[in-house]
Amino acid sequence: MTAPIELVLLGTGSPIPDPNRAGPTTLVRVGTTNLLFDCGRGALLRAAAAGTGAAQLDAVFLTHLHSDHYTDLGDVVTTHWIMTFDQKALPVYGPARTQEVVDGLLASLGPDIEFRLAHHDDLTAAPDVAVTELAGTETIELGAARVVTAPTEHRPASPSLAYRVEHDGHAVVLAGDTLPCDGLDRLCFGAEVLVHTVIRDDLIRNIPVPRLQDVCDYHSTVAQAAQTAARGGVERLLLTHCVPPMLAEQADEWQALAAEHFGGAIDVAEDLFRLSVA
Ligand SMILES: [Zn+2]
Ligand SMILES: [Zn+2]
Repeated sequence: MTAPIELVLLGTGSPIPDPNRAGPTTLVRVGTTNLLFDCGRGALLRAAAAGTGAAQLDAVFLTHLHSDHYTDLGDVVTTHWIMTFDQKALPVYGPARTQEVVDGLLASLGPDIEFRLAHHDDLTAAPDVAVTELAGTETIELGAARVVTAPTEHRPASPSLAYRVEHDGHAVVLAGDTLPCDGLDRLCFGAEVLVHTVIRDDLIRNIPVPRLQDVCDYHSTVAQAAQTAARGGVERLLLTHCVPPMLAEQADEWQALAAEHFGGAIDVAEDLFRLSVA
């Protein structure tokens, strides 16, 4: 029997710190291959709760370079470095300028790296972060998983990417932050699950804070995410990274809004929500 694709939503929060929700992060596991999609606040705390850690990660994929999607990349880099004993590289895939982000992180870790190299005889090299900047549509084979990318629409946070993880004829899609777009539609076609970040423009429009109003420019609403799910013919839609921050008792309302446009299963994901696709 082949392994299922296992999804664990490690963090489902908005950019605003929330005692119950970590920042946007999803773990996808295929057999023994562990892939991390985005790396928000508290990613490794939730990974520990899901029974994995930095040393078990085979790669990190970033959808885009808004800080809430990679706040804890430095933690992953450091912990991977310290907790792996064969000093293997950590592959990090992302859009253009991912190398710039990683170089900056490594520079900020300069003193720590120097101290640990001086202190541990068996640690002989600085963290090895192998960055691959992806352009548009590419396919990456990692263990039992095939990862396919497509460009999304989140300007000015550009370029941005969505990812599709395939294994044994099954597929799940991680949209990241994006308006509806052709790239995401292509990835969704024939997939079972779509994980999509969403906003409620009907609520945001009533909050007279210009900086919050701006959020509406470049995110999908619940309705738009549901329409993307319907066009792609996916079986299940997981709503995550909800803005404005959602209270647990409001989940039914968000779900009902999506159900107006999508007839499949809909979940408003909480941290550590798990799903197996086989
Ligand atoms: Zn964003
Ligand atoms: Zn975001």
